[in-house]
Amino acid sequence: MIARHALACALPVALACALPVALAFAGAAAILPLPARADTLLDNVRGETIGADGTVQPFSAILFDDAGVIRAVYRSGDRLPRQDTRKTPGRNTYQYHIDGKGRVALPGMIDAHGHVMQTGFALLTLDLSDTTSFDDALAKIGAFARAHPDRAWILGSGWNQERWHLGRFPTAAELDAVVHDRPVWLNRADFHAGWANSAALATAGITAATVTPDGGAIDRLPDGRPAGVLVDHAADIVARAVPPPNARDLDLALATAMADFSRRGITAVADMGTSTGEWLAFRRAGDANRLYVRIMAYASSTEAMAAIGGTGPTPWLYADRLRMGGVKLFMDGALGSRGAWLKAPYADQPGNRGTPLLSETQLGNLMSRAAMDGYQVAVHAIGDKANATVLTTIADLTHTYTGDRRWRIEHAQVIDPADWPLVTEIAAKGGIITSMQPVHQTSDRTMAEARLGPDRLRGAYAWASLKRAGAVLAFGSDTPIERPDPWTGLAAALTRQDAGGAPDGGWQPQERVDRTTALAGYTSSAAYAGFAEARFGRIAPGQRADFILVDTDPMTATPDAIRKTKVFQTWVGGGKTWDVEHPDGG
Ligand SMILES: [Zn+2]
Repeated sequence: MIARHALACALPVALACALPVALAFAGAAAILPLPARADTLLDNVRGETIGADGTVQPFSAILFDDAGVIRAVYRSGDRLPRQDTRKTPGRNTYQYHIDGKGRVALPGMIDAHGHVMQTGFALLTLDLSDTTSFDDALAKIGAFARAHPDRAWILGSGWNQERWHLGRFPTAAELDAVVHDRPVWLNRADFHAGWANSAALATAGITAATVTPDGGAIDRLPDGRPAGVLVDHAADIVARAVPPPNARDLDLALATAMADFSRRGITAVADMGTSTGEWLAFRRAGDANRLYVRIMAYASSTEAMAAIGGTGPTPWLYADRLRMGGVKLFMDGALGSRGAWLKAPYADQPGNRGTPLLSETQLGNLMSRAAMDGYQVAVHAIGDKANATVLTTIADLTHTYTGDRRWRIEHAQVIDPADWPLVTEIAAKGGIITSMQPVHQTSDRTMAEARLGPDRLRGAYAWASLKRAGAVLAFGSDTPIERPDPWTGLAAALTRQDAGGAPDGGWQPQERVDRTTALAGYTSSAAYAGFAEARFGRIAPGQRADFILVDTDPMTATPDAIRKTKVFQTWVGGGKTWDVEHPDGG
């Protein structure tokens, strides 16, 4: 759910110049994809894919051609073609062979909602997501600053005052105590707030006299001076003062992110909020044949959409590795920072109902602007009022913009059960995708209970109910807000329990989904959500040869085993992008 201000994470030039060092530092060695080879047979696998009819289908071998397209899929007992390594092989033969060694083969995992560049930058800057106390965080920030004397700004992300049990936002003064010589700007874990030190506030020109912008909040001291934390549009003021990433920074962040996706078994990702600069970096990687994770891009604004796509979505580029097909809009903020827009006040902050980031008229106009030119529209909506507003607006637009539209709601985190019929209505017209993140539910459970109180929980993270209402569930991680780990996500989708098994029996367990729905959410449905279902997401003739070899069968294994799935190999379009035996690409 990264807001605009997050786009500005910058790296100093010095870091980008030290490219190999930085890659090693990120623990993210990039492997260039092997070129796809003339007809290749993968056999000796226990394969499973979602079929065209939505059921799980087994396979034991795949034949793909040198364009990286699957030509045939075999079940056990089928007669396989024979190997023929001559230059011009005969019919019903293959030249190259991959022994699957009896491993589980699955379609490549698709993350239906991620932030590609921010994932790379999060790996290259200070990561506070594992800090469990405020003191621990302060020590880590100080140590990072001392270790990087060359960086003009200390940038980072991942903090969460809830996890520190702080009971309040941290302050600029506390940050000054560990770094005072340079600006420090740290995004909150939800990327809907940032924490600045005094140098950052001064550089951004934020003082007691600064007027709080609409759709934002400035945490203030009793005398009106900024305290250090800025929410949503107020955070943009600091973000704009951060030197923007240059092309080399972006290329490094992209390579770092792709390496991280590949080792987790991810072969495609929907990038939710692509700026024009990021798009150009994707294009540079594509031009150089280094784009080895497929990217379904959603422009960060209607302006970026028009700049990238002109009068409509771009074609699929680089053999289905890149397309900009839609726009990402924001209706509200996040629950954690109380920026989510609710029908009734927050249970833990009477009088506050959160903040819409757009008026209903603005939302309708922007959606209309995109839909008119055939772009898909994806709207971030967390609170029940935000979701109700988006659903009502979509229902209105379906009268004008008919046909297969697949209106996307990103997160769809709290939808009042009274509004579920609207989902059904839209599903029957242009179609509706609820793009949800199973791990948000397990990470945010206690926070959501505090913010929402007991009466609104039935509509929270209501995966099964939304599916029953007619929505297509596409699953993702919202990386870097959560790690882009589809295995944790699959386990959460099946159990609504965290890694420790809490809570017993699952949180609101009626909203768990079955294994087929969960696997589809990370494969075929995630492709469908990006209008890519004819190209990838399943193992079937005509689909791109995107597959992974793993040690765990998600259709039968315990959720705990699924969470610990080991990815042996990842293949994209018939080229290998990850091999656990050669993690550095050797
Ligand atoms: Zn997001």
